Amino acid sequence: MTPLHPAPDRERLRAKALELGFVRVGVTPATEAETFGFLESWLDAGMHGDMGYMARHRQARKHPQSLLNGVRSVWMMAWDSSFGHHPGGGSADTKQGRIGRYAWGMDYHVALKDQLKLLASWCQEQWPKMRTRGVVDTAPLLERDFARRAGLGWVGKNTLLIDPQKGSHLLLAGFLTSEEFEEDKPFTADHCGSCTACLDACPTGALVGPRLLDARRCISYLTIETKGPLPADDSVRQLMGNWLLGCDICQDVCPWNKKASRISLSSPDLPQPALQKPILQSVDPLWLLKASSNEIQELLEGRAWDRAGESGLRRNAVFVLVHLVKQAKSRDPDGEWACQVEKALEVCLENSDCAVSEAAQWGIKQLRSLGGLVKA
Ligand code: SF4
Ligand code: SF4
Repeated sequence: MTPLHPAPDRERLRAKALELGFVRVGVTPATEAETFGFLESWLDAGMHGDMGYMARHRQARKHPQSLLNGVRSVWMMAWDSSFGHHPGGGSADTKQGRIGRYAWGMDYHVALKDQLKLLASWCQEQWPKMRTRGVVDTAPLLERDFARRAGLGWVGKNTLLIDPQKGSHLLLAGFLTSEEFEEDKPFTADHCGSCTACLDACPTGALVGPRLLDARRCISYLTIETKGPLPADDSVRQLMGNWLLGCDICQDVCPWNKKASRISLSSPDLPQPALQKPILQSVDPLWLLKASSNEIQELLEGRAWDRAGESGLRRNAVFVLVHLVKQAKSRDPDGEWACQVEKALEVCLENSDCAVSEAAQWGIKQLRSLGGLVKA
């Protein structure tokens, strides 16, 4: 006789998650996070910068019980954010600002949450007694800790989870359940070995040691999480390069990403949620300074960029433009384009947003210090 409430089946749940577009799926018991002590030291050292929510919810990260009462298993799932492109992808246009690849398509928070909701409904139909909670990024769960324990990969010296086949361009989601599942084998190997490519390549020295990120120096953090003016530290401002939003350098240099298998953009296997917004790898920063608020809101809609918002995007555009003008010095001897940049910065001096006006003030000073490039 078929039981009225069949026991949850680990392989059926895994197969369903893979069908929904996750590329790696594993499960581990819901116990205390192993790296909680490390998190505490990192927070105490202030390396989280302005991410106050990290400190505010510190205790909640100790145990997934804080997210689902009676939780017994933590499923970890990885979503491929590479959009079929290999390292070095992104615009080579010398007048464009680059976007970190996690943000090329639609807002992954929305895309992944939608898939987790579908998974939760499916579980409800299969096993009505099971309670679940899906979390993506913003919830207080030490995702990489649980992902390693669920067998998805190891935490590389660039602080990111690396799957031996897929590399590190992965977005992690957690799916907590009130049922116990047989655990997957934890990933115990460290395949970084003696490599230090990510530490060597980080332009701002944000990777202060293996697996130790000082977010206050990280371009990704500065362009996305920092509200208001960027820290005045010139050694960081000068080194941010053409990154408008995010930064992929410590991933692009990783040998595990160079050999990773990618889903092609034309493949029917590419999860459809990824394609609900056109892929944008770069944006013209000069356009960003001149665009109206409505035009920028249109650009932001449905993308993860609204974390930076209009203010952050315009501010970041100034730093990118200063970098690009410096790069263009030999290619644009009459400085026509640089003149347009300077004029746009002058307009920004009057911007009521102090993050933008302060950046413009700094930018104009930088351009004028170049001498001979910018017409008075
Ligand atoms: S994202 Fe960029 S700035 Fe941040 S650690 Fe990696 S290379 Fe350095
Ligand atoms: S670049 Fe090298 S050290 Fe850094 S995460 Fe990749 S393998 Fe590890």
